[in-house]
Amino acid sequence: MISDTITAISTAVGEAGIAVIRVSGPDSITEVEKIFKSKKPLHLVDSHTVHYGHIIEPDSKEHIEEVLVTVMRAPRSFTTEDVVEISSHGGVISVKRIMDLLLQMNIRVAEPGEFTKRAFLNGRIDLSQAEGVMDLIRSKSDRAFSVALKQVEGSLSSKIKALRHTLVETLAHIEVNIDYPEHDVESLTSEFIKEKSSFVMNEIAKLLKTAEQGKILREGITTAIVGRPNVGKSSLLNTLAQDNRAIVTDIPGTTRDVIEEFVTINNIPLKLLDTAGIRETMDIVEKIGVERSRTAFSEADLILMVVNASEPIHDDEIELLEQIKGRQAIIVMNKIDLPAQANREILERYVDPDLIVPMSVKAEEGIDALEAAISQLFFSGSLESADLTYVSNVRHISLLKKANQSLRDAYDAAEQYIPIDMIQIDVRMAWEHLGEIVGDTAHDALIDQIFSQFCLGK
Ligand code: GDP
Ligand code: ZN
Repeated sequence: MISDTITAISTAVGEAGIAVIRVSGPDSITEVEKIFKSKKPLHLVDSHTVHYGHIIEPDSKEHIEEVLVTVMRAPRSFTTEDVVEISSHGGVISVKRIMDLLLQMNIRVAEPGEFTKRAFLNGRIDLSQAEGVMDLIRSKSDRAFSVALKQVEGSLSSKIKALRHTLVETLAHIEVNIDYPEHDVESLTSEFIKEKSSFVMNEIAKLLKTAEQGKILREGITTAIVGRPNVGKSSLLNTLAQDNRAIVTDIPGTTRDVIEEFVTINNIPLKLLDTAGIRETMDIVEKIGVERSRTAFSEADLILMVVNASEPIHDDEIELLEQIKGRQAIIVMNKIDLPAQANREILERYVDPDLIVPMSVKAEEGIDALEAAISQLFFSGSLESADLTYVSNVRHISLLKKANQSLRDAYDAAEQYIPIDMIQIDVRMAWEHLGEIVGDTAHDALIDQIFSQFCLGK
């Protein structure tokens, strides 16, 4: 049984205007009360109420910080334990002082993911829901966020549970056959196993199909912005980034000479790569710009090729266009605010006219058309209506594949009239693999490993 009380800062330090420190465990209310001064002592307040007061130094009674404290009594809390949340106005130093005081009480620092682990160990959520919480924390777009949310709410869990139920029934059926072999139901049982295992395999295949989409939702569609120097690549990236703030906007880095930015366009998460990088401003032969573009180009799911509409199409651009064939690409004819020089017909030899977008980043024209082209190219709106039970977690994918293999073995064995008790083992394995997804049959070591991936404070 869990007997100690833990604490951690639950919001990102320094970034937010408010910081929340969470305390969970049997002593949370009595211990926080020792350093919190308000009208009513904490142990007397109702559950799920918020209280204004001050964090004080227990010996000197010095006021450390003005705070709001929320009390949630067991079992109606995330961890199912007594939970106290302290909201302060942030500031790294004030939060640190509050944490220091808490740690002088009978409270220790939580390990990464320990709150969620407690919720799991106390039966509040299952393993796939816990992983959903982790994805939720990491999700980079609204879309990925809602997928993760669905998982927290248990949509994958309930599917897996239904499949496991089918397998348990199958196992029970096999058991009867083994116990009463004289009933001569052997061949009927083989048929039954084949029917049930193909049903479950079919359902697993559906879940696995969503895996690729799930990956895109989590990581974003890798989108390379390519083109000759000075055509407006960086300007385009900046404009898209401003108009489409993702929940988490990564600070632009300069990985491999490439600037990355996460944006969400019409609910589609894109990881934009500006292939220009930092060196563009230096005096480097134009050719190198094209070379560098090529690397990001070959790795991208989507290519946004920018050309300068106020200049004739350049030989380097023809070279790039040659390579666009067969790829998902959109051509942005930028700088239409200037007199036109580029020959659109040349571009139309390489891409569909719908995917050539005249634009002026400077005059803010054509951005909607570009966003529409991106949506059209990728999902034709179909993602919107899709069932949101995406399997996107690597561990889940591998377990689904293992379960599928065990069922395939069971099916093949049943077809060859291999003794039923042998087949039973395969069905049982499939049931166990599926169980590991929701944590029913997961080993302690695995559970520890999963929760250690959480960030602190969750
Ligand atoms: P990059 O080298 O391809 O990244 O191009 P930049 O984004 O750095 O832009 C090069 C220059 O073109 C800058 O001076 C921009 O202000 C200018 N520029 C970008 N977009 C437009 C546009 O639509 N019209 C005009 N007239 N100038 C633009
Ligand atoms: Zn640039």
